Amino acid sequence: MSNDISDLKISGIGRVTINRLIDAGYSLKFLAVASPSIVSKTTGVPVEKVRLIAAEARKLLGLEGEDFITAKKYMEIRKNIEKISTGCKALDNLLLGGVETEAITEFIGEFGAGKTQICHQLAVMVQLSKDEGGLDGRAVYIDSEGTFRPERIVQIANAKGLNHEEVLENIIYARVYNTDHQMFLIRKIFDFIDENIKLVIVDSLISNFRSEYPGRENLATRQQLLNAHVHDLLKLSMYNIAVVVTNQVVSSPDVFFGNPLKPAGGNVVAHGCTYRIWLKKGKENKRIAKIIDSPYMSESEIIFAITEDGVVDV
Ligand code: ADP
Ligand code: MG
Repeated sequence: MSNDISDLKISGIGRVTINRLIDAGYSLKFLAVASPSIVSKTTGVPVEKVRLIAAEARKLLGLEGEDFITAKKYMEIRKNIEKISTGCKALDNLLLGGVETEAITEFIGEFGAGKTQICHQLAVMVQLSKDEGGLDGRAVYIDSEGTFRPERIVQIANAKGLNHEEVLENIIYARVYNTDHQMFLIRKIFDFIDENIKLVIVDSLISNFRSEYPGRENLATRQQLLNAHVHDLLKLSMYNIAVVVTNQVVSSPDVFFGNPLKPAGGNVVAHGCTYRIWLKKGKENKRIAKIIDSPYMSESEIIFAITEDGVVDV
């Protein structure tokens, strides 16, 4: 099945409209699941036309199913969900096995907490066989802070006895410099999901949004765009992909008791991410990880370490 929208033939939808969607980076797979109002806002194509196109895309992709299903059937569907081991038993235990497909897992923490290290490690782990905790898959790494290091991938791959050349080949990398580019690239991923993409990393989710839309006066626009972005990521995850994002912490001046730090991005990120893990620095190379708001996991804490071999148990 081609993922190209240029072949779509729908009465009432002309070339100009189709071209606008193509220019904005939309693909068939994306349109099939995207929110018509968001697509309409970003392209100027009227929402009714986007709905028609989305319906056609779903038909072509065979995604037209029953809207209502029983909980039993939903449980069957959830059995398709797979997990990627983090390569660290303590972290895996915290995550009930690893990072999940069809979900967004968010690693939150201050500078140096280990977010980027976990991302590097997962980009290697996803490539392992299922028996070894991977998904025999490839990773996409979206780097908004310029902290991706292929040399670090080589170290981690070697520590696992893997051929590092092959491991590097299976990580598709992009450095992004602004929010438009970041959102555009996520939509582009829908074009090559079929190339065995099982993990998409965005490190970090937030930094471009914060620097481009600073201050209270830009808050509404920033949150609106961030919301669209998080939804794009959720849609991506529905194609049996694990999405992993990192997030910074900000201080909230209105807190009198307890932790004055909170994850950036407010409710938009809090509601969009399925699993949220807060990382804190411990002594030397030790790190503490804790789950915050999960639908069914307990709020326990674990300790891991960062060494030359990657993210490891202590
Ligand atoms: P952040 O949460 O800001 O993304 P990082 O994931 O970049 O933090 O973690 C940085 C930490 O990882 C540093 O404390 C650094 O010492 C450690 N680290 C990075 N590379 C290595 C390595 N090759 N060997 C040991 N520790 C490393
Ligand atoms: Mg980082």
